[in-house]
Amino acid sequence: MTSAQPTVLVTGGAGYIGSHACKALAAAGYLPVALDSLVYGHEWAVQWGPLEQGDILDRAWLDRILQQYRPAAIMHFAAFAYVGESVTNPGKYYRNNVAGTLTLLEAMRDNGVGRFVFSSTCATYGIPDTVPIVESTIQQPINPYGASKLMVERMLADFEAAHALRWIALRYFNAAGADPHNMIGEAHDPETHLIPLALDAAAGRGPALTVFGDDYNTRDGTCIRDYIHVTDLAQAHVLALTALERGEASQPINLGNGAGFTVREVIAAVERVTGLSVPHTIGPRRAGDPPSLISDAERARTTLGWRPAYADLDQIIATAWAWHQRRM
Ligand code: UDP
Repeated sequence: MTSAQPTVLVTGGAGYIGSHACKALAAAGYLPVALDSLVYGHEWAVQWGPLEQGDILDRAWLDRILQQYRPAAIMHFAAFAYVGESVTNPGKYYRNNVAGTLTLLEAMRDNGVGRFVFSSTCATYGIPDTVPIVESTIQQPINPYGASKLMVERMLADFEAAHALRWIALRYFNAAGADPHNMIGEAHDPETHLIPLALDAAAGRGPALTVFGDDYNTRDGTCIRDYIHVTDLAQAHVLALTALERGEASQPINLGNGAGFTVREVIAAVERVTGLSVPHTIGPRRAGDPPSLISDAERARTTLGWRPAYADLDQIIATAWAWHQRRM
């Protein structure tokens, strides 16, 4: 560690998005310190700085880490993120995502860390009346996962008013793809996301894909989502940090590409990229799936100067496919 290299603590830094953020931070001249319980994260994903294993609910551990590293800022990814599980076990989500974040915010307050980049989600909007979704769209989450993230956004505003915390909450749409240098990528267990499941099905590594409903009021009856490359997402976190450093106001910012694709269109793209067919069947709708989620990405461009490098769906899937082949 050198004094020329400001330290950023990255909670969830051994996870899918957090590890890509560590890589982007290191490229931008920061030292990323990954804080991770390793419940879902992977030690192999921590390649750009130290790993500190622990739980954000452990206040004494957080105090020790904050005093040891004296970070310039915290990026907070550590959270449980399975929507279905949040419905059947809400306590787990409120404890980790809300009480855990509160513990972290109080530790920051008491140790004089004033900048916070938060991993929020389009799930805070629930079922929006209109798309594309702007940041002022009313937030009415329809599951405990989305509710837990919205509660944190509220805490951030209150901590700013009381303790001058400065924050940016990045509301992600559908993170996808893998590091273009194929060093890290998605490795969820269980895996529930469309693109890795479609790749597994194409490669014969998993069962046929079930399409969750084809009777939505969309162009082909299947749900529409806005897929954003994980490296572009990670880069937006670095830009959010630099925005806070230059005095930009605390605020929420959507992160998506502003283009929506149906499940059928994603399947077709996976077939184009892999040259394989994706065996699939049509199943019932999945509870809690909004028909269409598309970001208005204007604020990320104007406030952060964010320009996605991998905005094309086939490009996103190609990086995911390279990672899948490496893992196979
Ligand atoms: N989806 C699907 N089959 C699957 C997994 C996902 O049809 O096995 C659909 C899901 O209904 C949604 C889209 O694919 O419309 C993206 O789902 P994913 O779980 O990847 O992300 P989410 O939108 O839930 O964050």
